[in-house]
Amino acid sequence: MMKASAGLTNTEIIAADFPRVPSKYETFFENAIDAILCFDLSGRITFVNPSATKLFGYTRDEFLALSVLDLVAPEMVASAVDVLESARLSEFPAHSDWEIVTKLGDRKFVAVSGHVVQEHGKPIEVQGTVRDITHRRRNEDEVRKLSLAVEHSPASVVITDSNGNIEYVNPKSVELTGYTREEVRGQNPRCFKSGEQSDSFYRDLWQTITSGREWHGEFHNRKKNGELYWENASISPIRNARGRITHFVAVKEDITGRKGREELLRASEERYRQLFERNLAGVFRTTFEGEVLDANDACIRIFGCRDREEFLRLKALDLYANAADRERMLMLLRLEKRANNFEFRSRRADGSTGWVLLNVTLIDMTEGKRGYIEGSLIDITDRKLMEAQLHAAVETAEAANRSKGEFLANMSHEIRTPMNGIIGMTELVLDTELSVEQRDYLNTVKSCASSLLNLINDILDFSKIEAGHLDIENIEFDLRSSFADAIKALALRAHEKNLELTFEVTPGVPERVLGDPIRLRQVLVNVANNAIKFTEGGEVAVRIGIDSCTADETVLHLMVRDTGIGIPVEKQKTIFEAFAQADSSTTRKYGGTGLGLAICANLVQRMGGSIWVDSESGAGSTFHFTVKVGASPSLDTAEHIPTGESEVHGLNILVVDDNPTNLRILSEMLKRRGAIPEEAKSGQEALQAVMRAQENGTPFPLILTDSRMPEMDGFTLAAHIREKKEGQQQPIIMMLTSDGLRGDAERCRQNGINAYLVKPVAASELMETMAACIHKQTKRSVNIPPVTRHSVREMRRSLHFLLAEDNLVNQRLAVRLLKKHGHSVVVVGDGRQALRLVQDGRPGEFDAVLMDVQMPEMDGFEAVAGIREDEIKHGKPWIPVIALTAHAMKGDRERCHAAGMDAYISKPISADELFATIGSLMSRVQ
Ligand code: ADP
Repeated sequence: MMKASAGLTNTEIIAADFPRVPSKYETFFENAIDAILCFDLSGRITFVNPSATKLFGYTRDEFLALSVLDLVAPEMVASAVDVLESARLSEFPAHSDWEIVTKLGDRKFVAVSGHVVQEHGKPIEVQGTVRDITHRRRNEDEVRKLSLAVEHSPASVVITDSNGNIEYVNPKSVELTGYTREEVRGQNPRCFKSGEQSDSFYRDLWQTITSGREWHGEFHNRKKNGELYWENASISPIRNARGRITHFVAVKEDITGRKGREELLRASEERYRQLFERNLAGVFRTTFEGEVLDANDACIRIFGCRDREEFLRLKALDLYANAADRERMLMLLRLEKRANNFEFRSRRADGSTGWVLLNVTLIDMTEGKRGYIEGSLIDITDRKLMEAQLHAAVETAEAANRSKGEFLANMSHEIRTPMNGIIGMTELVLDTELSVEQRDYLNTVKSCASSLLNLINDILDFSKIEAGHLDIENIEFDLRSSFADAIKALALRAHEKNLELTFEVTPGVPERVLGDPIRLRQVLVNVANNAIKFTEGGEVAVRIGIDSCTADETVLHLMVRDTGIGIPVEKQKTIFEAFAQADSSTTRKYGGTGLGLAICANLVQRMGGSIWVDSESGAGSTFHFTVKVGASPSLDTAEHIPTGESEVHGLNILVVDDNPTNLRILSEMLKRRGAIPEEAKSGQEALQAVMRAQENGTPFPLILTDSRMPEMDGFTLAAHIREKKEGQQQPIIMMLTSDGLRGDAERCRQNGINAYLVKPVAASELMETMAACIHKQTKRSVNIPPVTRHSVREMRRSLHFLLAEDNLVNQRLAVRLLKKHGHSVVVVGDGRQALRLVQDGRPGEFDAVLMDVQMPEMDGFEAVAGIREDEIKHGKPWIPVIALTAHAMKGDRERCHAAGMDAYISKPISADELFATIGSLMSRVQ
């Protein structure tokens, strides 16, 4: 503007040049719809009609003060200046579009057409028509934007004519269907049909849109490549100005992916729903407060409801028989957010109760909310019932077992007591003068009673094993003497069958060990007894060795070899089973129950070992068994030197025995004690050896001979030695017999034999006896009775006993045994009297008390407790108490010790066990 009007002011221009319009055209200009504007070549407005004032908002006068440059939009001013420039050259564009700014500041689009008016061939003015095209321009813009949107739309757009023939498809539709625009133009959209949807579907669509309504729905269509796809579509009719439908527009969204996901979701939901509904377990959801939100059929069934409605009306608390159970469950939920395997007593709709196992989790416990509870439950009423029945059955079985145990204990007591009487009394009678016939009968009684006792013991043991009542003890004991006593009893039986029984303990076997002496002996006796039973001639050799040895534990290996009938290979396994015998024919020669080895197998297994046999039919058997024993805690055991060792050390001893095993064992025993043994296999050989030694000036100071030998027996040998060596230094002659029969002592005296011992001898016994003989000889006494096992014991001091025993037979038996061994006894019939005697007697009056456990008035346990209390109260010395128990049951030992008893022996009282116990107890006390 400034540029255009340089050098002149607006007022000046208008005042000078405003042209006049010829009046005949005035009405035309005044009424023209388009705005008419005239301006000079500088741009100054010279004429405007009323439409111009309306369009621009300026009055005619205001116009005349303006330039055209004031009217155009600022960004178009430069173009306007250019137009003015060209107008000066008589050029003006016939048509052009401008954007103007009205007086009020509104922008408008205008179409301008004009021409340059010349005067005298010179351009003087521009006359222009200005038409407001704002509305049209806006519409055009709108359409452009819309078509751009349609072109770029992520949705498919299809436009058809009123007959449904495709006029337009957007690029998205091309991309999706694979059909180009050209391919589909003029086609009916049914070209996309897959055939998956029914005709009525399409009919309905067509009816809707042709009636002028919008249609919404989903198409299952097919692409050009045959692939199926889903579209969500909206189809709208388009009407012209007269309201007639000219077109249809379909806007469609590809929902194949969503459909797939929806399908998956639906399937998964369906699966869960089925799981939920068909679950055998009840599945439910409740609020924390107990409002039931949902539950499956199983829940409804478990709680006995008719239908879901009835169940949903219930409160969780209604399902509990005890409200406290739900409280407990909620407590768990609060603490751990879950409760697993929670059992509770349930209440059913009909009021009955059952049992339910519950698993619940607390869900959605967000801040401030109490959350809800989801869980599953199963009905365990039947299981609970079964458990209860099982429990009751177990209880009954245990009770039965307990009473079986008690029955066993009582049986054991009831049977052993009279057996004790029978065996003991028979032994006493056998010790008196009897006719041969009477002795024979009584020996039969004794052996029958012993077999009966053994049988009973076997059966009791077996039932104890079966009932799990058999326990293995772990106490300290002397291995050799424990076996030696047992072997002696066996030797007697062996001798009766003219069998040699040898017993050998190999070097390295510990003296004292920890284990169960009674059970160990039981196995050995059983196996050795069998060996004797099944052997008609030859020998039975018992050998104790070791398999391995550590600081804490030794594995003993015991072997019993016989020269008997042997066992066929196929029977060798079964004999260790209960009631199994190699010869199961009814005509079998050997009796027995077939329980012995089964018991042995069980016992050795419990003692950490095993049992097996090497045998051949007709060629004898060797039974092996191993057991684990603990190292003795007593430190002095290793240093233990048996009596007699110093006496025999360096002594030349002639050992005479026809049995090579025995000979070897005896020599070995002596050698180990430092003696120098020489072996002779017969009386004859022995006599030669004696002569040879005599001639060499090294006569034997001691001769140890077997009594029974073929050709020349021990007595004859002794007689020969004595008569030949008259006047000379006589050797000590010791005799080993297998039977220790009455009258042997007399024969010994007659034949100048210094001592006799019953085979097989334990090393300690042999040494002790040898020492005794050597001592006697040095005293040079004349006509001394021979040293026997008993006299060795008799040399020990005589003791004063208190015996408390209610059973008369037992009383008499014990008294006789004790008296026979030179001891004195005071007898009472119950614990109360025993306690009184000990309390009232002077301290040390009794050396020991033998106390029966089961007695009327006051039992043994109580009496001992009283004795111990009295000792402590009055500072009296400790008095050894030996319990006499008929039970031999599990726990006896512990009970006796706990009650203050020092040792216990089980009835029937065996003389050996009694004196061995007394011996070891007294030596401890002293
Ligand atoms: P019992 O001797 O009471 O029959 P055991 O269990 O002690 O029962 O023995 C089972 C069987 O094993 C015996 O019946 C016998 O056939 C066989 N047997 C055991 N020891 C020997 C042996 N030393 N020699 C031959 N057979 C034996």
